Amino acid sequence: MKDEDDVARTLLVNGVVQGVGFRPFVYQLANRYKLNGNVANTATGVTIHLEGPLKRIRTFIHDLTTQSPPLAQITDLSQKEEAFRNYSNFNIVKSRPAAKMSTLISADVSICEDCRRELFDLNDRRFSYPFINCTNCGPRYTIIDDIPYDRPQTSMKHFEMCPQCQAEYDDPADRRFHAQPNACAACGPRVDLYDRQRERVQTPDPIARAADLLKKGHVVALKGLGGFHLAVDAENEKAVQVLRQRKHRAEKPFALMSYDLGTLHTYADSRKPEEDLLESFKRPIVLLKKKEPNPIASSVSPRNRYFGVMLPYTPLHYLLLSHGFTALVMTSGNISEEPICIDNEDAFKRLGDIADYFLIHNRNIYLRSDDSIVRKSAGQTRFMRRSRGYVPVPIFLHQKLPAILACGAELKNTICLTKDNLAFLSQHIGDLENLETYAFLKLSINHLKRILEIDPQIIAYDLHPDYLSTRYAQAQTDLKRIPIQHHHAHIVSCMAENRIDGMLIGLAFDGTGYGDDGHIWGGEILIADACRFTRAGHLDYVPMPGGAAAIKEPWRMAASYLNYTFGESSLDIHLPLMQTIDRGKMNILLQMIKKRVNSPLTSSLGRLFDGVSAIVGLRNHVHYEGQAAMELEMMAGPQTDAVYDYGWLTEDGTYKILLQPIIKGIVHDMEKKRPVAQISRRFHTTLIRLFSDLCDTIRQETGLNRVALSGGVFQNSILLGGLISALEKRKFQVFTHTQVPANDGGISLGQAVAAAAAVLQSA
Ligand code: ZN
Ligand code: ZN
Ligand code: FE
Repeated sequence: MKDEDDVARTLLVNGVVQGVGFRPFVYQLANRYKLNGNVANTATGVTIHLEGPLKRIRTFIHDLTTQSPPLAQITDLSQKEEAFRNYSNFNIVKSRPAAKMSTLISADVSICEDCRRELFDLNDRRFSYPFINCTNCGPRYTIIDDIPYDRPQTSMKHFEMCPQCQAEYDDPADRRFHAQPNACAACGPRVDLYDRQRERVQTPDPIARAADLLKKGHVVALKGLGGFHLAVDAENEKAVQVLRQRKHRAEKPFALMSYDLGTLHTYADSRKPEEDLLESFKRPIVLLKKKEPNPIASSVSPRNRYFGVMLPYTPLHYLLLSHGFTALVMTSGNISEEPICIDNEDAFKRLGDIADYFLIHNRNIYLRSDDSIVRKSAGQTRFMRRSRGYVPVPIFLHQKLPAILACGAELKNTICLTKDNLAFLSQHIGDLENLETYAFLKLSINHLKRILEIDPQIIAYDLHPDYLSTRYAQAQTDLKRIPIQHHHAHIVSCMAENRIDGMLIGLAFDGTGYGDDGHIWGGEILIADACRFTRAGHLDYVPMPGGAAAIKEPWRMAASYLNYTFGESSLDIHLPLMQTIDRGKMNILLQMIKKRVNSPLTSSLGRLFDGVSAIVGLRNHVHYEGQAAMELEMMAGPQTDAVYDYGWLTEDGTYKILLQPIIKGIVHDMEKKRPVAQISRRFHTTLIRLFSDLCDTIRQETGLNRVALSGGVFQNSILLGGLISALEKRKFQVFTHTQVPANDGGISLGQAVAAAAAVLQSA
């Protein structure tokens, strides 16, 4: 019966609110405050009807936003007054299957605390069951084949729930109400252990046996959430080296997984913000400073001050790691740069020469998703890779966009699909340098279009004519095709995630991007808005002798910068480089530069880092992209005000930043036998001073007071942190990446937003 102070309200909740335990949460909350009405999934979100005293409704709304389930993400909450209908209780309205659901799909989620407790509870019916989950946790994105997100559309469709599981699934008060992957040992998926001859290993406990084999030094391929990992005992130097040899991965660091923070602290340092990231249900790989000495095999992360570490995120991981490892190496289950394996058959085939044993299961992975990689830098979370745990939760934009597909660049490729004010970045697709990755690109595009119900009419892509992503876009002749310059896309990506518009100064620093003059850009100062840009300044051009070979062999860039600075006499300089590189080889290279044979011009800051690292004797060759630059950053000594000379010229209205004074200063310091730590720091400080001076000059001419920082070079935290504080000291407003990677993994977002602006402009 209606009391005097009773009112009726309808709440509309938008965001990630379906398939995340939101309705049971609302149900329990309404019962707690004795409110009547109902809750229902709708096409756009969740609708809640409430009847009761206004005061209690207000408390309900407060709790709704502050105590919602971990996976829920409310982006919009509106309420309106309603006619009183005298509901007698509160219930969950069954969703009509015909209703067109336009809802956000949750990312995959690490096992929750409740499930973890049950996993290790001898009296629980799911004790040690490796696929335990509930509405608050478990696989999502990687097992969905179509929408709506219901069991028959997931890889759980092959498993029929037992009566006990079904009862949980049907009970609105249960933690497993509508948990689509709900299962138990009686009815759900199971694990099995095989050797590399595909013989099943007879054992009552495949996980314990796998742990045993790992302790003996074997390589075990392990089927996880978003794909296979290759695991070895991280304390076993020999096992780690065997894995490196078999995987053809010379020095690129391996990720580690430890049981908990306590175990992890035996080899790495972490502070509160990093621990929050490690323990978050997204469970990314977090870069942490090494402790020295530490018990981890030295070949896990050679010549690096950091370990990439994650905590277990599936029940299977917890069960395996509970066998007393300090850490397991958990590296992606692939051959060199191909996409990771997700399928058992495929794993036996492709990983057969790498793994000794296979710990597999029969729950299919529909879409692979690599581990995400983050670090704390300049006080914020910075993505190096945004993938499992984050995808496909969208980036929320401040403007509505038409449906656009952006194809990304070449390295660290992701794609982006837009709908309204949402930008959906895909999981990490990889380096588009082989057909397997290209196939995965096409598969991801089609899969995402289907599950997100986006039918793009516009396609955006990189200006580079030879990227596979460009070729894909150009083949889509029925779509409106819009090429976007690489560094413009970087800057617009940064603007988009910061929800800003209008003209600003953009510093786009990376390794490679195709410029509109046909040269290779990468040290670019742009004046840009979402629609257009002008090139206000750039590093002076130098030849890249051998083209792509110069990326793998920084000594080539060193020779090029030396030749650019000193001309013919560069050969007489006393540098370790001149002793380590054969004189004949060096002469051939100088001829190539002189005659401009296979020597494209580049203004890349990434290449400058490479070249300097070879000049100071750190690296003549690299095993992975960015290695030389990273080692130069790692070497940097304590902060100093000392800088090398620097300057620029104006040429055709563009600032050309001269590199001779910097190279001269570095060579001078090398001849004086100054420590590399000092030179590295001074080089960083010089760049920070140079670019903040140049921003000042541009502000005087243009009045622009905002600066956006983007591009892979900003993974360098000395440069990022240094530039932010130098610019802020000069009262600039600085925008950086915190939601998508600064590297090419974030570029598809900028392509989409820039293409939308171009379409709007031409309309
Ligand atoms: Zn759970
Ligand atoms: Zn069951
Ligand atoms: Fe780039």
